[in-house]
Amino acid sequence: MLTTGMPDTGRKKEDILDELKTLSSADPEYKTGRLWSLVYYLGEEHTDFLKDAYNSYFSANGLNPTAFKGLKQLENDVIRTTASLLHGDKNVCGVVTSGGTESCLLAVKTYRDLGRAKKNIRRPEMILPETAHVAWAKGAEYFGVKALYAPLDRDYRVDVKAVRKLVSRNTVMILGSAPEYPHGLIDPIEELGEIAVSKNIPLHVDACVGGYILPFIEMLDVDLPLWDYRVKGVTSISADTHKYGFAAKGASTITYRSLEILKHQMFVLQNWPGGVFASPALLGTRPGGAYAAAWAAIQAIGRDGYIDLTEKTLRTTNRLKVGISEIPDLKIVGNPQASLFAYTSTSSDVNIFAVGDFLEKKNWHIDRLQRPDALHAMVTPGHEVVVDQYLEDLREAVSWVRQHPEAAETGGAATYGMIAHLPFQKMVKKQVLDMFADMYGPEGKMIDMESSMSSNDSGGTEKTASGMPPFIDGIIKWYIKRKQRTGN
Ligand SMILES: *Cc1c(COP(=O)(O)O)cnc(C)c1O
Repeated sequence: MLTTGMPDTGRKKEDILDELKTLSSADPEYKTGRLWSLVYYLGEEHTDFLKDAYNSYFSANGLNPTAFKGLKQLENDVIRTTASLLHGDKNVCGVVTSGGTESCLLAVKTYRDLGRAKKNIRRPEMILPETAHVAWAKGAEYFGVKALYAPLDRDYRVDVKAVRKLVSRNTVMILGSAPEYPHGLIDPIEELGEIAVSKNIPLHVDACVGGYILPFIEMLDVDLPLWDYRVKGVTSISADTHKYGFAAKGASTITYRSLEILKHQMFVLQNWPGGVFASPALLGTRPGGAYAAAWAAIQAIGRDGYIDLTEKTLRTTNRLKVGISEIPDLKIVGNPQASLFAYTSTSSDVNIFAVGDFLEKKNWHIDRLQRPDALHAMVTPGHEVVVDQYLEDLREAVSWVRQHPEAAETGGAATYGMIAHLPFQKMVKKQVLDMFADMYGPEGKMIDMESSMSSNDSGGTEKTASGMPPFIDGIIKWYIKRKQRTGN
């Protein structure tokens, strides 16, 4: 059990560190390739190096770029390096942010303000592919920009014709992803660029996950469509150093084709009693350590290093994709060219979420997708050693599920299957909000999201009678009631 509350007198530091170590021992096993999202891990040696780099600027604050001049130099260099990787010219400029979400939020704010300043747009709209990262929906809500969603084409990339139809006088930006997170597919950026140019609308490319791997895939002579500043019409790009840049968490970049655009991101308050205040991004205090570690990662890995890592990652991804395609009734979604992909079931005899449950029991941590129902993989070099085991377990999972159709009606499979489909969406939103209210309310409840399927029951975690997290429990109850009422 975790020691809680402020002690009257400080405890021994050694004990505190021991306690943290014990606590983290229950974390998902990312070091051994069991986790297929969230962590980009290159081993202890690299991690220790990042910690040292982080430490060198541990207390520094990037809030005031004139105070910690070294930090501004580091930021400049990360931005220049990123710009050149993305084939930007010398006019490309930008800011290091705390993460992909901040980069995306900033772009929404920038283009809302640019639209207002240049075109007097008062009811801003932006056009997002359905697969746009949630950060964009968040930005829409936070900044009062209406999100118009463009459907996908048959290959699960954004339907360019649909985008064209959504353009109006209120459009402040168009988004494309390179690649999108759910299926790892690169939207047709060149075609979006044509719309952007002809209609004079900014085009942002969300390369949060792809920014530090697609350029190296291209260096490996893999044919990729153009998606970066080489595409006329692309006005900004977000790229995370803390994903495939293998930096410490807390560092991403947002770059713009010109300072004229970036200016709309800036915030200045000249008459604040605390002094004239200026801020280039969302945060006030900006963690210097994260920026130092981002710079250090780039320096330590270098171009050849990134190419090697990318080569290993791609090889691993391809082995997985081929292996999965060879399993009857499984299919990769679209044609993913980077290091992320999703796979789905083509047969009603194989419920993909039941397959996920089985894999979970085998101690794999995988994300579930919806529309279409699918399982997800974000591949890193560390996954190379687990490919065979993963495929073996997956084959076993599929044949087990085929022999146990009832598995689709129970456990996580049933609930994921249910929440993925209308008319449950509103209910899901309400239940999840309630659950977050429990977690962040005064009681700070601990909730196990992995349902009853996971065997490692960590103490103090709430589970309900059905063994499901409370929000799912609520949905099931609602569903049963609805069934009783309507008979279907
Ligand atoms: C990860 C990701 C983001 C958000 O980045 P965070 O660092 O998690 O905030 C945005 N867009 C895409 C495409 C991503 O993959």
